[in-house]
Amino acid sequence: MPDVAPFSAADLLDEIRSWVEIESPTTDATAVNRMADKVAAEAAAAGMSIRRIPGRDGYGDHLLAEIPGRRNVPGILVLSHLDTVHPIGTLAKDLPFRVEGDEAYGPGIYDMKGGALIAFAAMRKIAQSGRTDMLPVRQLFVSDEEVGSPSSRAIIEEEARRARYVLVTEPAREGGRIVTARKGVARFNLKITGRAAHSGSRHQDGRSALRELARQILDLEAMTDSATGVTVNVGVAGGGTRPNVVPQEAFAEIDMRVPNPEIGDAAVARVLAIKPYDPDCTLTIAGGLNRPGYEKSPGIEALFQHAKTLAAEIGFDLEGMSTGGGSDGNFTAATVPTLDGLGVDGSGAHTHEERIFISSLVPRATLLLRLMETLR
Ligand SMILES: [Zn+2]
Repeated sequence: MPDVAPFSAADLLDEIRSWVEIESPTTDATAVNRMADKVAAEAAAAGMSIRRIPGRDGYGDHLLAEIPGRRNVPGILVLSHLDTVHPIGTLAKDLPFRVEGDEAYGPGIYDMKGGALIAFAAMRKIAQSGRTDMLPVRQLFVSDEEVGSPSSRAIIEEEARRARYVLVTEPAREGGRIVTARKGVARFNLKITGRAAHSGSRHQDGRSALRELARQILDLEAMTDSATGVTVNVGVAGGGTRPNVVPQEAFAEIDMRVPNPEIGDAAVARVLAIKPYDPDCTLTIAGGLNRPGYEKSPGIEALFQHAKTLAAEIGFDLEGMSTGGGSDGNFTAATVPTLDGLGVDGSGAHTHEERIFISSLVPRATLLLRLMETLR
């Protein structure tokens, strides 16, 4: 069991509150940087070394906090994010920090300031113990996870190359489960151009972009295949201008989930190959995988079994699951054994009901600490 003082739920919750009360929507780099300032100051105070990587493309800065371990060995990469989906003002209006029984509410408390904080607290305990006989641990806080990590993906992949394990502090799922497989995510934009005409006097000259789109939507959705785990959702669509004009333009936005890169590449190729039914309509489709999927590998299975044993020692049953959602773990799982969903248990991610279960804080923080202490 841990050779450092146990965690206190009240102390962890106080710290989580202080992180939640700095609102940090992905789209507001200044706000995300305020959050980075706070984490950087706390990491420095705990004796961790800090690297701050300037943001780009309108996103905030990324932070890498590190505690030394044995030298010249690959370490443990803890993946976390500073950003949330909640706009500034959510805290004052729709989702104030509050505690009701075992639940604590707040913007980003579950996804994922709670999880980021408990991992940070575990690292801090090791830093304070002065132990250096373990693997080095680096916690990467990125600024843009909620939009697919466009400005941090290369940094995540670079850090994963010097890691032996990756632990992702995304929220625990469905009763505290962690994630051992995730679907990949692809996005596409479809544009169709037909030919406008008066719907009364020149109907025969028109080529309806919306009629073409309707057929394409049915074909795209028919690519959903429960046997392979591919799902296709045409989530947004529109077109046309007036009831009495044959529509010249139509568009759709498509989200596809795939179980692994091989099936994903084939499914992406099928979407990109769609052809118009009406030869007088032109169709352009652009997009592709923005996060590859992954399935449980032998390395992930071994890491999971180790975590399960530690959880049993702490006093809870750890279960793994596969999920359709994407996270930064998708970028690392193909090359480094990765466990995701190691954050706090709760519910309501991305909603005004976002909450954590306070009783999960100490067991989950202890599991992260024990992983850092025992992984070799
Ligand atoms: Zn998240």
